[in-house]
Amino acid sequence: MIEEVRDRLYRIEVPLPNSPLKELNSFVIKADNRNLIIDTGFNREVCWETMQKGLAELKIDLSRTDFMITHMHADHSGLVTRLATENSKIYFSRIDAKVYDKDNSWKDMIDYAQINGFPPDELMKALHNHPGYKYSPKTVPKFNLIDDNDIIEIGDYRLKCIATPGHTEGHICLYDEDKKILFSGDHILYDITPHIESWSYQINSLKNYMESLDKVYHLPVDIVLPGHRTFFNDLKSRIDELKEHHLIRADEVMDVLGRTEKNAYDIASGMTWDIDCEKWEDFPIAQKWFATGEAIAHLRYLESEGRVKRKTDKNIITFSPANN
Ligand SMILES: [Zn+2]
Repeated sequence: MIEEVRDRLYRIEVPLPNSPLKELNSFVIKADNRNLIIDTGFNREVCWETMQKGLAELKIDLSRTDFMITHMHADHSGLVTRLATENSKIYFSRIDAKVYDKDNSWKDMIDYAQINGFPPDELMKALHNHPGYKYSPKTVPKFNLIDDNDIIEIGDYRLKCIATPGHTEGHICLYDEDKKILFSGDHILYDITPHIESWSYQINSLKNYMESLDKVYHLPVDIVLPGHRTFFNDLKSRIDELKEHHLIRADEVMDVLGRTEKNAYDIASGMTWDIDCEKWEDFPIAQKWFATGEAIAHLRYLESEGRVKRKTDKNIITFSPANN
């Protein structure tokens, strides 16, 4: 399904089967000399066919097209290597690009999940069900690395890159000041709350996320174009809701913890999740994985706020209330 959002700016809705996100918004800006495609969909056939059809309908010549990928997740980056031609520039965050430098980033993640209480016999299954493992680009694209405040110009669109760490460390939003358009990627979604996870105690992703919400709060916008689902106008109200949501979640983590000492996996299993399953045991493995990552992000945040203590002296990392 294609929709003209603004003059020469289009959205292609790319289906994401079995994902709670339902679809990805791929944005296409047409210009006389070069076109720009923002985000692409998973590297899987249903996404590929939708993009091929949509781009043909819009008469996009890929040899005159550049790409901008808001962050490294496979639903955004998955197809870029297949769509890009040798003439294409692929704009991508310098920080997120580091993921591709490491051969063993999945192994690090698995080890980390294990020391946070994820059942060892389910780790491999979790990996093989992870969308990033299944649907990432098969070869690493050649990137044009971008940083905060860089400008991408395409036709009469002038897009400023805004580094918004949180959803991923290198996440980038694009802002057109004259047109008052914010491409928010997965930093700010309207129908669902962006997933905030942490797979390293070095990174306080929830704190970064809250600060990145403040960073875009005062931007004058007429329309926000997120990476998934519905467009919206009222940026400030949505940011207020998202901040409130995470503070409530942090309090919930404190309630689940009570006066006990628990690992992140056990805390995740005691939290409420917006998913069609009666109990934790029935959660699909990938959802258990995401839930654990989200619990860790909240625990790391609570630790920085002085509300929980982290214990690392045993094989499994545990948390307890700071005032216990
Ligand atoms: Zn994402």
